[in-house]
Parts: sequence; C-alpha cells; structure tokens
Amino acid sequence: MEDIHSKIIWAENTFEKSGELILSNISELLRGLDECIERTYNCMEEVGILKECSECAERTGSCCGRGIENRYDRTVLLINLLMGVKIPSEREQDGCFFLGSKGCKLRAREVLCVNYLCDRICNNIEHEKIVELQNVAGEELDTLFALINEINRIVRSLDDGDK
Ligand code: SF4
Ligand code: SF4
Repeated sequence: MEDIHSKIIWAENTFEKSGELILSNISELLRGLDECIERTYNCMEEVGILKECSECAERTGSCCGRGIENRYDRTVLLINLLMGVKIPSEREQDGCFFLGSKGCKLRAREVLCVNYLCDRICNNIEHEKIVELQNVAGEELDTLFALINEINRIVRSLDDGDK
C-alpha cells in the first residue's frame, strides 16, 4: 500500500508541475465543492453535531485515529492543494496524520470522514436532522467524486502526453 508520504509527494509534485493547467479546467467544479463543504459544515452546526463533537473531544480526545490517513486517495490531497490548503509534512499529535490542535487540517475530506456518525451522535441528535445532514453531505460527496474523476482524466492525459 502506498504510504501517506508518497501520496503527499505525488500531490505536491503534480500541483507544482500542472496545478495551473488543472485549475483552469476544473475551477467551476472546485468552487462548487467549496460551497458544498460550507453547506455541510453549516448544517453540522445547525443540527448540533459540532457542539456534540467539541464536548466529546474535550472529554475523551478526538476520534480521528492514527491510520485513517492511509484511507486517503492521493487525488483528494491534490484537491486540497488546489483549494489552497497546506498539507502537513509531519504528524502533529497521536491521531490521524491530518489532525491539528483545531481539528482536521483538510478542507476536502474522504467519504469515511464526511459520513462518519458515531453512537453518541446517533443517540443525541434527532433522526430527521441526521437525514437532513446526510442529504447535504451527499451533495458534497457527489461533487467530490465528479472532481476526482475529472482531475484523474486530466492527469492521465498529461501523463500520456509525456510518453
Ligand atoms: S464524531 Fe462522535 S466520537 Fe467523534 S468527536 Fe464527534 S461525538 Fe465524539
Ligand atoms: S476528519 Fe481529518 S483529521 Fe479526522 S480522520 Fe478525517 S482526515 Fe483525519
């Protein structure tokens, strides 16, 4: 399995070499993803999940565990760079590689992070509110998948051009 450092190096090299060209082809989708992420975040706040998480993390620490970073696709890291996110070069604390003192350092996140609902949230938040959040998060993930496909298509065509 490709480790997180190799994925980060690939994302940074691709960003440096072809970032401008990729951006010129996907700017609308990227803006759409950013708006979707904002809507998901606002919805998490409205339904009370951010409050639950901050109380929980204060008492028991974050649930963003060490090793979750290995589930990340390198193109999602490239998307973060295209969004202006600074990818960390080392682990800051005992937990996920992307976890910082103020929470996740990424803007675009994988499905397992966007969709994660623990027992505490399922028990403390009304079912209708969770369904509402899932609908909003679903739009974020649809946009993320469309963006991943488009970027992979562009990167493949650039790689073919190099041969
Ligand atoms: S997702 Fe659940 S376990 Fe993780 S911080 Fe929030 S409430 Fe706690
Ligand atoms: S939300 Fe961020 S810090 Fe938490 S597991 Fe996912 S990538 Fe790691």
